[in-house]
Amino acid sequence: MYYPRSWTKSLLRLCLYIALIVLLGIYVGDVVLVLLIAAVTLLIFNYLHLYKLTKWLWESRKMSPPSAPGVWEHVYEGIYYLQRRNRNKRKNLGELVKRFREGSEALPDAVVVVDKDAKIVWCNRHARIEMGLKWPDDSGRRIDNLIRHPNFIEYFHSGDYHYPIEIPAPTNPNKTFEYRIMAYGEDQLLLIIRDVSRVSQLEEMRKDFVANVSHELRTPLTVINGYLEVLSVEDEDKSPFVGKAMMEMETQTKRMQALIEDLLILSRIEASSERIYENTIDMTGMFAQVEMEAKALNKEKRHNISFKIDPDLVIFGVETEMRSACSNLVFNAIHYTPPGGTIKVLWKKRADSAYFAVIDDGDGIDDKHLRRLTERFYRVDKARSRKTGGSGLGLSIVKHVLNHHNSFLNIESKVGKGSEFSFILPPELVYEKNTHS
Ligand code: ADP
Repeated sequence: MYYPRSWTKSLLRLCLYIALIVLLGIYVGDVVLVLLIAAVTLLIFNYLHLYKLTKWLWESRKMSPPSAPGVWEHVYEGIYYLQRRNRNKRKNLGELVKRFREGSEALPDAVVVVDKDAKIVWCNRHARIEMGLKWPDDSGRRIDNLIRHPNFIEYFHSGDYHYPIEIPAPTNPNKTFEYRIMAYGEDQLLLIIRDVSRVSQLEEMRKDFVANVSHELRTPLTVINGYLEVLSVEDEDKSPFVGKAMMEMETQTKRMQALIEDLLILSRIEASSERIYENTIDMTGMFAQVEMEAKALNKEKRHNISFKIDPDLVIFGVETEMRSACSNLVFNAIHYTPPGGTIKVLWKKRADSAYFAVIDDGDGIDDKHLRRLTERFYRVDKARSRKTGGSGLGLSIVKHVLNHHNSFLNIESKVGKGSEFSFILPPELVYEKNTHS
């Protein structure tokens, strides 16, 4: 604590000391000499205390300060007070760190703190067990030297940590770990690793189940449909009721067949591990076929459909998937645009990327539906979609295909004005003839 009064006291004492010295000088008859002796004595006195202070600060193990007279007492007290305050602060900070570590140890996930040079600063018990990290041996080692999976290395160095990634565990390839990175403190990264083996197993089971059920339903439906077609042709004397029932049965089996085909396509795309950089797609040929199919579909509606295709724009990708995505978008435009409407299909280069768009002046979609359109079986108007024969899986297929090709679907729409469904494929997928020939 700071005492201004004690300073005044010390100053008064000094004045008294000087006055006494001056008096003594007058008495002795040599004021200057006595003053000089007094000043030297005072200097020695202060140097002695400075020496004592230095010894206490650097060598003494005692916390309590040595006793000292006058102003030195306050200096010692001040230093002692500061030391005590720092000690308390350190203690509180230590408690905080201890509590944080205890909390992190209790977490069900593995936690690793990494500094800006990718070096491990700290990890919890789970990280040691699940990731095989050794503590303290691995402290200061680079995390990307310990987790060597290429997907992790790419994710770690990308700097984009909006989404977690899932990869096999380093210690057990049968387990799947989810890695999530968060920026933390100053230039530090918090790596949270969670065992999601069970979740991904369930997801795999779900995908397999849908694929198997769809596959199993395909054969009986083909048989039913075949008989229905034969019966409707052969039995000419059937009553009007039976005729109508058979027609309805035929329509519904065709719908179920279309639904199952879409489910199978979706399962195939979801499970697809086909590399997108391995083959190029003949987009011009593909669009020629889509155009033919679109025109066949368009016979009754008489839309004004135009295809503007850049024949030199070739891309890398999976052809069957791209055909599904593009044809779904074009057929949707035909289904949801009233007769006489205009539909434009564009395929062109935009900067270094490839741009695809289907623009129609049809029904349009209300804003509130846009976010959910790519969900499975999500339809804006259920009755309407049923009439068009849609399975409700079209845009979901498009989303998965684009995801596989490192892109996403962009939808802009206004009710009554029309819609634009588009996507941009990244420059890495654009095939440059000159560099590859
Ligand atoms: P569906 O098989 O029902 O067409 P999709 O997944 O292909 O399923 O489309 C989902 C919904 O999005 C459709 O039910 C429809 O309401 C809406 N939609 C898709 N394309 C368009 C479009 N070009 N114009 C207006 N609405 C559309």
